Amino acid sequence: MLSRENVMREALSELEAQRARNVMTEKARREEAAEKSAAVADLLEQRRRLFTSGMRSAFSSPGKAKDISASMQSGVAQINAQLRAALKACGLPEDYLQPVYRCAECRDTGYVGEPVHEPCACLKRAVMNRLYQSEGLQGLERENFSAFDEAIFPDEAIEGKKNTQRSFIRRCREYCEQYADGFDPAEGKGLLFCGRSGLGKTFLMNCVAQRVLERGYSVVVISAYKLIEAMRRYQFGEEGLEQVQDMLSCDLLCIDDLGSEPMLRGVTVSSLYHIVNERRNANKAIVVTTNCDADDLYEKYDDRIAARLTDPSRMKVIPFIGVDVRRFARG
Ligand SMILES: [Zn+2]
Repeated sequence: MLSRENVMREALSELEAQRARNVMTEKARREEAAEKSAAVADLLEQRRRLFTSGMRSAFSSPGKAKDISASMQSGVAQINAQLRAALKACGLPEDYLQPVYRCAECRDTGYVGEPVHEPCACLKRAVMNRLYQSEGLQGLERENFSAFDEAIFPDEAIEGKKNTQRSFIRRCREYCEQYADGFDPAEGKGLLFCGRSGLGKTFLMNCVAQRVLERGYSVVVISAYKLIEAMRRYQFGEEGLEQVQDMLSCDLLCIDDLGSEPMLRGVTVSSLYHIVNERRNANKAIVVTTNCDADDLYEKYDDRIAARLTDPSRMKVIPFIGVDVRRFARG
């Protein structure tokens, strides 16, 4: 795993690049609008002159700086009102020449708050997403809805069912895509994918994670094995507080392959309960894939864990059925 400091530095320099791009965009827009409308060009020139002369006189008579600044501001406000009208008149949005930024909270500086400066949610999210993507978990960027190929699933009726495995997985995919597109971190709704290996559970979970990431939310994808490993390290005081906090605080936590982790006495069940329960209390969503069915969950873990993972008011349980398709898959 990359160090948090390095990832933070990377995220901040990405924000710096973003601010430079914003300035370019603003300039390009001014040029475009001025070309389109002589009135806009004229107003922009008036505003520029007002700034320059205001600065100059404030500089030469510092005693009057306050008055000069006030009259400059009212002049600029007047010009801006005319600018909005002129932009509209030439078919551009009224706010076309407003400052450009991706994050309205921090204006792409990465920090918010006065007087206490603290990292903006967008910076925290960028750091978290970089940290966990860099772990190389299943290659999230390769496993996304557009790479999802239902053709590898047999188009024959599943034993004992009317539907084919392909039509079944298509419905799952549709459901998951809708879930990811409508994902709302305040709702706390999650998914539980049950079923044997090779039925597409992990792939679909990664598709969901990738789409939710693209939509700007923080996502941690972690195997149950690594989750327990991290909790064990933390519990025995070695390290990992930040990783545990990430798992608790991210918008969406995806736990892969629950049931494959080692059952460590005094660690596995209590750690899992801690994560599942804390997220539930905070109304935060989890997506879990597991080879266990609901009965296995009750048997293997704890009633409280199983109940939370299968609670129909919070979790959509999707049982995956059919035959293992990994033997058909490339690579
Ligand atoms: Zn921000």
